[in-house]
Amino acid sequence: MTQAKTQTTRCAICGESTPDHLIVQYGSQEHGSREVCTRCMNADMAERCGLDFEHVELEPVTMTDCSGKSHEFHFATHLLGGMMTIDAFELHDGTPCGHQFQVIGSPDDEPFDLMAQLIARIRRALSVSHLSEDPRHGLQIAGQKVCGQITCDLDDDAVGPAVVIDGREISWEEFGRMLGTFEGFHFRLEIVDRSEAP
Ligand SMILES: [Zn+2]
Repeated sequence: MTQAKTQTTRCAICGESTPDHLIVQYGSQEHGSREVCTRCMNADMAERCGLDFEHVELEPVTMTDCSGKSHEFHFATHLLGGMMTIDAFELHDGTPCGHQFQVIGSPDDEPFDLMAQLIARIRRALSVSHLSEDPRHGLQIAGQKVCGQITCDLDDDAVGPAVVIDGREISWEEFGRMLGTFEGFHFRLEIVDRSEAP
């Protein structure tokens, strides 16, 4: 079994070696922009805003999708002045990828309540599969509705963004090929914030 490599960065405030997905660029007038861990960022933000905020480290949760594939979700909590966000994401080699979700609450919300909302949404998303594998034509849109996330394609030759559907990254070209099978149909495109999907 290969060990997944997790990149770490030393937090500029507490000095703890922290996985990169829990490191943020945090700017202040005194210190400029520094790489700090979410715990230190939240503590500093709480102090500046006079908030009584307790940072809770949320443990990863493994969930199974409708095809039986398991997904490990990691969580990052950010206190941003008058709001608190919790992001849920999968990691590949230490970098967030695949399914990504966010919930927005207020600083006095109970983190575990927000996490429960997030988990309910993840469960809803994992219960539906938008793509199917056709033996002759490869990956296809399974029904007449497809939901996913717009992301960036890191390939130098990429002509557009990439999309993540069913937790898998699909190039714009590949997505276009799938849409091509619906020639003559009309479509509706609605963009939603990741805190509102699914
Ligand atoms: Zn720190």
